[in-house]
Amino acid sequence: MTDATPRLGFDTLAIHAGQEPDPLTGAVAVPIYQTSTYKQDGVGGLRGGFEYSRSANPTRTALEQALAAIEGGVRGLAFASGLAAEDTLLRAVCRPGDHVILPGDAYGGTYRLVARVLANWGLEYTPVPLADLDAVRAAVRHNTKVIWCETPTNPLLGIADIAALAQIGRAASALLVVDNTFASPYLQQPIALGADVVVHSTTKYLGGHSDVVGGALVTGDVGLGQELAFHQNAMGAVPGPFDSWLVLRGIKTLGVRMDRHCANAERIVAFLLDHPAVDRVFYPGLPEHPGHDIAARQMRAFGGMVSFTTRGGSEAALKVCELVQLFTLGESLGGVESLIEHPARMTHASVAGSPLEVPDDLVRLSVGIENVEDLLADLAQALA
Ligand SMILES: *Cc1c(COP(=O)(O)O)cnc(C)c1O
Repeated sequence: MTDATPRLGFDTLAIHAGQEPDPLTGAVAVPIYQTSTYKQDGVGGLRGGFEYSRSANPTRTALEQALAAIEGGVRGLAFASGLAAEDTLLRAVCRPGDHVILPGDAYGGTYRLVARVLANWGLEYTPVPLADLDAVRAAVRHNTKVIWCETPTNPLLGIADIAALAQIGRAASALLVVDNTFASPYLQQPIALGADVVVHSTTKYLGGHSDVVGGALVTGDVGLGQELAFHQNAMGAVPGPFDSWLVLRGIKTLGVRMDRHCANAERIVAFLLDHPAVDRVFYPGLPEHPGHDIAARQMRAFGGMVSFTTRGGSEAALKVCELVQLFTLGESLGGVESLIEHPARMTHASVAGSPLEVPDDLVRLSVGIENVEDLLADLAQALA
């Protein structure tokens, strides 16, 4: 596909972008090029532009082209993990002494990377509740280089207005970075809304099968894409060919998986709202959710993540996590199988006592794509 190709639909791009049949054999699936180096036809004579697999590998290139296409960007870059992508991005666009605005409820690993690693290198940061645009404007300093956005957030599914943050970023000459892991590009297209860079933990919905750890950056700016690619090669946190292939394989079914994740989540939300053992339900699809109108504007549907609090405090929440049989008790999210967790004791244990602390009667679900009747029956028996 070339620049002249008309804009194809999301699922078509997910299946075909960067994934032409192999020119050598006609293989329909992109081969796993398990090689570190490439024969040169004479000194400096590269076939197909490949010289060493840290710099580029054909399987990874296919993934990177698919990532760029499905996010509506011009350059995609794959990394060994979501945090490797974040580290590379922040060191590429910031210098010691620069400042970044972080979401008040940032993903814990992002907060730790900035507060405990990049702060030692001289990066300054301010956590701000992104739903409060005046607070974001007030937090901008002369040295602010990045506004970092997550929406929906983890685990309370808070919503930030990407287009409004992009305006604030432009006025401040700061980049808007959107961690699009929770929504996936199928549900939300941050670059079209004005974001400069999209970040993913491809470990989650893009991989989609809980069998790989990976990360990605996508940008709509050619020059920034080159700068990020330079840092990807210079810093070296790249994924291997097999991990790249797993993510590429996952991307092909992203659209149909997300449709089912969302449909199942909506059924589960309706069930939880009616259940006497459940207190509050957090889901951006609910009209009473504070970010509902923005989510309805910037998302195709409301996602597969659902959180709720239980009547009966943390003991009741822990009991549900232990009594479920089909939901697997575990961290992470975005796979085909449903997961359940207790954020206060698991994913968010390290932020207890900090502003990022979450209620200890909260349960988080990553709703999978199983038959929803089975998921509902499992929750019913666990809540009984
Ligand atoms: C998991 C996750 C990350 C970190 O990605 P890894 O692949 O675990 O390094 C970053 N942001 C969000 C929102 C995540 O869920």
